[in-house]
Amino acid sequence: MKILVTGGAGFIGSHLVDRLINDGHTVVVIDNLSLGRIEHVNSKAVFYKMDIRDEKLAQIFKEEQPEIVSHHAAQASVTKSMENPFLDNDVNIRGTLNILECCRNYGVKKIIFSSTGGAVYGEPQRIPVNEQHPINPLSIYGLHKYFGEKYLYLYNENYGLQYIILRYSNVYGPRQNPNGEAGVIAIFSRQLLQGATPTIFGDGNKTRDYLYVDDVIEANLLVMDFNKNGRIFNLGWGLEITDKKIYYSIKEALGVNTKPIYGSKRPGELDRIALDAMYIKKELGWQPKVILKEGIAKTVAYYKKMLSKNEP
Ligand code: NAD
Repeated sequence: MKILVTGGAGFIGSHLVDRLINDGHTVVVIDNLSLGRIEHVNSKAVFYKMDIRDEKLAQIFKEEQPEIVSHHAAQASVTKSMENPFLDNDVNIRGTLNILECCRNYGVKKIIFSSTGGAVYGEPQRIPVNEQHPINPLSIYGLHKYFGEKYLYLYNENYGLQYIILRYSNVYGPRQNPNGEAGVIAIFSRQLLQGATPTIFGDGNKTRDYLYVDDVIEANLLVMDFNKNGRIFNLGWGLEITDKKIYYSIKEALGVNTKPIYGSKRPGELDRIALDAMYIKKELGWQPKVILKEGIAKTVAYYKKMLSKNEP
């Protein structure tokens, strides 16, 4: 199959591209390299450095004629979305709309959208949160991702474009950008390795549901062959992990003893979240496999190696 991956130079997208190529698919990547890195793009993929908002995107769809689009390109930081809501709006709404128009005009059969279970539901009324939980985003990022979901519904109803929505929890693993605002495991690992003192925003009791990137890729592969349309699936363990626990797990894995600084909680951030992923388990048999200790060990090993090679 020919699959176009937007954001394929980024953290999750680049792992997906590797797996798709390994499985024998033809892969086209679109990324503006604002956060992604060209070194992470598989050399067997066709790469276009382009912004998803660019009107020339249509030319790529016309030439490449992908059957499936996996839409991972995004402004993906809650904090940045609160600091610059217009940028988030532009990339996550206008950019997504541009992708959908290309899908409609150039015969794409199906789109898979990476949404966020960590931000669309808002502060949970119950934990773990399943897909029926009310949608009340607390951040501009969460709201705009939800807009993306609704665009998919509309394009399916009106133009027959098939879709699947994956609502990820907090994804972590190698290649996550440690210089960004999101991805606390990457950020803390890198800072502790460099001898810096990380800041925990809040009192350390905020909770998140951490999912290793390989588990996310498995779910992406499963839904590509899934013939039911319009499904929304949470991906997560359903387990709440506090910021303190994450910090101490990374510290332990690195064998360092640095104490964190505590700063004030940032706008848009939830106090608690964990996702119930029973629906995708029932429909597709997916469940996460990589436990936190193993995932953190793999992740810190990666950042150690990168630092030893002086790579960002
Ligand atoms: P990432 O920042 O590593 O990847 C996003 C990629 O998109 C980057 O390579 C970036 O260069 C590219 N990009 C950004 N704006 C672009 C634009 N205007 N045009 C073209 N390319 C652009 O982030 P990630 O963590 O790999 O996230 C991938 C997707 O998964 C995003 O849609 C994000 O919202 C979603 N998601 C991620 C998480 C997580 O925990 N990492 C959780 C929920 C949802």
